[in-house]
Amino acid sequence: MEDKKEKLTSTNINWYPGHMAKTRREIEQDLKLIDVVIELLDARIPLSSRNPEIKKITNNKKKIIILNKSDMADEEMTKKWVAALSKEAKVLVTDANTGKGIDKVSKAIDEIMKDEVEKQRARGIKNKTIRVMILGIPNVGKSSFINRISKKSALVVGNRPGVTRQKQWIRIGNNQELLDTPGVLWPKFESNEVALNLAFTGSIKDDLLEIVDIAYEFLKLNFEKHKEKFVNRYNLTPDELNEAENDSNKFYAIMKLIGRKRGALLKGNEVDDEKTARLILDDFRSTKLGRITLEEPK
Ligand code: GDP
Repeated sequence: MEDKKEKLTSTNINWYPGHMAKTRREIEQDLKLIDVVIELLDARIPLSSRNPEIKKITNNKKKIIILNKSDMADEEMTKKWVAALSKEAKVLVTDANTGKGIDKVSKAIDEIMKDEVEKQRARGIKNKTIRVMILGIPNVGKSSFINRISKKSALVVGNRPGVTRQKQWIRIGNNQELLDTPGVLWPKFESNEVALNLAFTGSIKDDLLEIVDIAYEFLKLNFEKHKEKFVNRYNLTPDELNEAENDSNKFYAIMKLIGRKRGALLKGNEVDDEKTARLILDDFRSTKLGRITLEEPK
C-alpha cells in the first residue's frame, strides 16, 4: 500500500509540465484584458486546489477568492478559511450547482475596484467596463459558475477594441463583464498529501488499479477525525469497530469491515476491495458521509 502512494504522485507530476508553459502564456495573454481575477477554489481543499503559481501569474491584478462547492464542506471550517484567506484577498463562498452566493460577486467586484474607478473618474474617464476572468484548476466548478452567472445575465458578444481574438463576454453587473471561458490552471503536486486530496475529491480521475489505495489513504488520513460520520453511515457497532481498530493493519481492516457491512462481497463471501473503495469515495464525494473539509488553515 505504502509504495503505491509514491506512484500516484509521480504519475501525475509527469502529466503536466508539457502543457504548463503554453497554458501559462495563453492565460497571461488573456489577463492583459482583465481588471479583476476570480480565483476559484474547492472549499473542501482550499490549499490543495490552489495552483502553485497563481500569485505570479496574477501579479498586480485585483483579486477575489471564491470557495466553491461550499455545500460539500464543513460550515465551521469554511468560516475559518474565509478568515484566513481574507488576509490576502476578498473572499466569497458559493455553491455553483444551485447558484448560492453568486449574487454577491458583482458587488464584491465593485468594492475592490472602487478606488480605481474613482481615480479614473477624476481623470475624466466615466463608466469604463470592468473586465473579469475566472481562474482555477480542473474540476473546481469554473464552468458551473459561469453557466450559473450567464443564466441571469446577458451575453455580450464582442470583438472589442483591444480584443484581438473573438471573445465572448457575459454582462454580470453595471459596467462589468466576465470572460465566458475560464483559465484552466494546472494543479500542484507538491506533496503526496496534496495529490491525495485531489484524488479524494475526484479532481484526479480514479485509476482502476489505484482506487483501493486511494480509499485506504482516505481512511488513514480521515477516519479518526471523522469517526462519528463513518460509524453513522455504515452502522458500525462498538464491537466491530474495536476489533478492526485492534487489527495490525487497522485501516485496511476498517475498509474490510465497511465492505462487509455494505455487502460489497465477492463469491465465497470475501470482501470486494475495489467495490468497497469506490463506495467509500462515492459516499464522501456525494456528501452521504456528511460535509467534510479535508484541510484546516495553518
Ligand atoms: P471545471 O472543470 O472547473 O469547469 O468544473 P465543472 O464546472 O465542470 O464542475 C465539476 C463538477 O463539480 C461537476 O460535476 C459539477 O456539477 C460539480 N460542481 C461544480 N460546482 C459545484 C458546487 O458548488 N457544489 C457541488 N456540490 N458540485 C459542484
